[in-house]
Amino acid sequence: MSKIKVGIVGYGNLGKGAEQAITQNDDMVLVAVFTRRNPSEVKIATAEAQVCHLDDVLQFKDEIDVMLLCGGSATDLPEQVPALAEHFTTVDSFDTHAKIPAFFQEVDQAALRGGNIALISVGWDPGLFSLNRLLGECVLPQGETYTFWGDGLSQGHSDAVRRIEGVKQAVQYTLPLEEAVNRVRSGENPSLTTREKHARVCYVVVEDGADQQAIEQTIVTMPNYFDEYETTVHFIDEATFTAEHSGMPHGGFVIRSGESAQQHKQIMEFSLKLESNPAFTSSVLVAYARAAYRLSHNGERGARTVLDVPFGLLSQDDPATLRKRLL
Ligand code: NDP
Repeated sequence: MSKIKVGIVGYGNLGKGAEQAITQNDDMVLVAVFTRRNPSEVKIATAEAQVCHLDDVLQFKDEIDVMLLCGGSATDLPEQVPALAEHFTTVDSFDTHAKIPAFFQEVDQAALRGGNIALISVGWDPGLFSLNRLLGECVLPQGETYTFWGDGLSQGHSDAVRRIEGVKQAVQYTLPLEEAVNRVRSGENPSLTTREKHARVCYVVVEDGADQQAIEQTIVTMPNYFDEYETTVHFIDEATFTAEHSGMPHGGFVIRSGESAQQHKQIMEFSLKLESNPAFTSSVLVAYARAAYRLSHNGERGARTVLDVPFGLLSQDDPATLRKRLL
């Protein structure tokens, strides 16, 4: 059987993770990595794949089945996904939750123009957490859904801080507040404000002469990212940053707490403990690449989210095998 030919756009943490994840899926092969940097300066691990400039991507229209878009959500994906969805089947991890409906519309139009499938906002949140929120709400229509993140480093938020002028390096950790978690797990169904659920902590290295006060202000007031949270910003030197903030752990849990008929208390919980957020997120992208490939072959067109994709399409096994093995 011929393999699914995959391309990667953007070779950061997610791009590197996707390259590694492809090696665990023997029905896929990496054809090329596309970057905005000088390709000769971007070294990849797969000897058989090419590194090309993003400007040359259209030359690969007939050679790539699915393009994994691994750029940042803040500025890369809003530009790259609509541009590329017109020419390729795409999968991206756009994670600015408030902007997903508008992003979907734009990508949908591009994908329909080109006759392609575009799976948007794939990953764990949005992504696997979204699926579990939906499942909880459908099974327990009377109840509350809670999402807690952390302890962990948020790539989307770190990326947003790194793009502020004067910032050299930055990480952002999200911490669930224990009191809130305990109240939810007890079945109390409390009303919690954003601020009561999590705190955000940033560690930032600035360029020489940068205005730390202005940078801190830009961070804590950033809409959609920090303005609704208690955010603490620590300015540290580069050596401390390298020694203490080089890992990328994350995780969290989705809890649906409700009552089925006859007032039985029921709690559903889905949790992730991730040693490496990008390695896990890119593994999700790669699994959904298979689904995107199949949707495209089934003649479907336009944008989709994880909520629209049947689980079976993610598997290498056919439906009959899955019925025997998993049901
Ligand atoms: P990075 O900052 O590592 O990479 C973003 C882009 O930066 C790359 O694609 C790359 O593009 C560019 N870049 C420029 N210079 C360099 C360099 N020297 N080294 C590496 N990359 C460079 O972001 P991540 O890969 O960590 O994350 C990408 C996005 O994934 C995040 O913005 C976040 O929104 C999303 N995400 C989504 C999740 C979900 O659950 N849905 C979970 C985790 C992340 P180029 O090669 O063109 O230069």
